[in-house]
Amino acid sequence: MEYYSKQISQLIAEMSSLPGIGSKSAQRLAFHILHMPKEDVKRLSETILSARENVRFCRECFTLTDQEVCPICGDPKRDHKTIMVVEDSRDMAAYEKTKEYKGVYHVLHGAISPMQGIGPEDIRLKELIKRLEADVDEVIIATNSSLEGETTAMYISKLIKPIGIKTTRIASGVPVGGDLENTDEVTLLRALEGRTEV
Ligand code: ZN
Repeated sequence: MEYYSKQISQLIAEMSSLPGIGSKSAQRLAFHILHMPKEDVKRLSETILSARENVRFCRECFTLTDQEVCPICGDPKRDHKTIMVVEDSRDMAAYEKTKEYKGVYHVLHGAISPMQGIGPEDIRLKELIKRLEADVDEVIIATNSSLEGETTAMYISKLIKPIGIKTTRIASGVPVGGDLENTDEVTLLRALEGRTEV
């Protein structure tokens, strides 16, 4: 990229460090930004900075939020005795889109993957077990149906069994290896309704 001047190359390099952005897209984004009105660039960079500075983990469910407690955990109309365990905040958003699930969530921020060296202590499992000290009726395990998601589901069900709380796994209506966030709402609902005790 030596044919671009230093600052342009730097901008392209920053863009291409983002997930899913190849060198072509990085160049397109960089030049788009360079052609944007300065005020728009300022607003964009300030939005990024402010989100990064103010967004944190919800004290209850560990989703990303800009409040101490996220809107779902803070909603007294939700069923706080039903906890759905998901891998990340995007999976949670996918289930929220169905508008049918009335319980709360627990966001693990990852899945157990021995291949990638991610163990149970690297995701928010301790925090989940701690939550179960409160009055909980059911834990719904909604991790992805990938190898990592299944490994995590199995690990969680073994962990909860001795505590004696009803634990269910969503049905495999979700395609194998598929990410929850890419699955349509009907499939998600069917998976939820068809959940079985583990
Ligand atoms: Zn929350």
